[in-house]
Amino acid sequence: MRVDILDRLPVPYGLIRTGVAPDHQSIKGVYKRYEAVNLSDNVRFVGNVTVGEEVSIAELQDMYDAVVLATGAPNDAPLDIEGADLPGVIGSAAFVGWYNGHPDYARLNPPLFGPGAVVIGNGNVALDVARILSKGRDEFAGSDIVHHALDPLVSESGIKRVTLLGRRGPHQIAMTPKELGELAHLQRATPLVDAADLPDEAEDMMLEPGQRKSVAHLRAYAQGTETKDVVIEFDFFARPVAIEGKGHVERIIVERTQVDADGKATGTGETYAVPCSLIVSCIGYRTPPIEGVPYETGRGRFANSDGRILEGLYCVGWARRGPSGTIGTNRPDGFAVVDLIAEDIGSGAGKPGRPALDALLEARGSDIVTFRDWKKIEEAEQARARHDAPREKFVHVDDMIKARGEA
Ligand code: NAP
Repeated sequence: MRVDILDRLPVPYGLIRTGVAPDHQSIKGVYKRYEAVNLSDNVRFVGNVTVGEEVSIAELQDMYDAVVLATGAPNDAPLDIEGADLPGVIGSAAFVGWYNGHPDYARLNPPLFGPGAVVIGNGNVALDVARILSKGRDEFAGSDIVHHALDPLVSESGIKRVTLLGRRGPHQIAMTPKELGELAHLQRATPLVDAADLPDEAEDMMLEPGQRKSVAHLRAYAQGTETKDVVIEFDFFARPVAIEGKGHVERIIVERTQVDADGKATGTGETYAVPCSLIVSCIGYRTPPIEGVPYETGRGRFANSDGRILEGLYCVGWARRGPSGTIGTNRPDGFAVVDLIAEDIGSGAGKPGRPALDALLEARGSDIVTFRDWKKIEEAEQARARHDAPREKFVHVDDMIKARGEA
């Protein structure tokens, strides 16, 4: 079987490049596995081609025996409260894309003047954002954070307090223990939890082992004191209800909640304000719908049964299951879809595939970036890296294309 991988960017690896945190290089290292796949004879990277503009899903279905949508969930779940459109309120897709060099967000220029920043959500993305906002220059050694983000974050930022708002309690966090534990090792920042928010310790025994470890970190953070430059404050039972400010965010209004035995939060009516100049909303993502492809609006993903949308059309990763799980969690879904495809195609594979796509894209004037081209771009990114970084990413598509030619 031969496989073509289409990407609208001239560079491969999607979330591994622009989603996984730049200071988590060991996770990013999984790209080597993808590189090996891309270098095999029967797989081809077709970069710089936008599906929906240069070629439609229907055309791909006519040309290929199977079309797999691995488009992820790059859109933010909407923060549906008054004032969410004020300047200074940013979704995690944009904020993470900015510090990770995604071309769509290279010009974001988030307001870091401080002193308060609020991060909404209690998942791993919220943790990533809080950590990146709190690190000093030395702590980014070895990372591939792009220089347009590094300098403002470590030299110009006035942020002294990062408040993580969780609408439920410590037992309901969606953070994993390793990521939560990292906060204890930050050089410039202290994580702080209000001991009064923690349930009786005996209740931790009812939690899954992983969650119990996470809560143990929170218990340790409840013993901390403000000894460092920056405080990462966990504010639990705190549901955002409005954002206020004159022409720019100045504060977020939060309602205290209480959580029942089923883990459901309800508002108590008591509200208070958290002053801030930046709000990053980390409340999950959505897969953008594609015209003609069945879509499940409630879950923000393609409507599918175990990865099959229709015969000949499949989805994997977050486009299939919604925005949850790590690379490891999503990997078996990919294998399962391959089995489905093999079942559906049987021995009847017969559509023209690659030559038909090449002819169509040539007729439409597309400028395909191949994996060999990408290796030239990668070489140029490595050549211009800071002394302590693996690469300095190009953040504009034009520069990527130029680097392909120059290398
Ligand atoms: P997530 O784990 O689903 O967490 C979303 C958080 O947002 C939850 O705490 C949720 O609270 C909260 N939330 C949702 N809607 C809200 C609203 N309207 N107001 C206030 N809070 C709201 O999502 P994520 O952090 O985006 O992560 C996505 C996936 O990527 C996860 O599986 C995560 O583990 C993974 N990831 C992993 C890593 C890593 O391994 N290092 C790094 C980043 C992401 P409720 O629980 O109350 O709904």
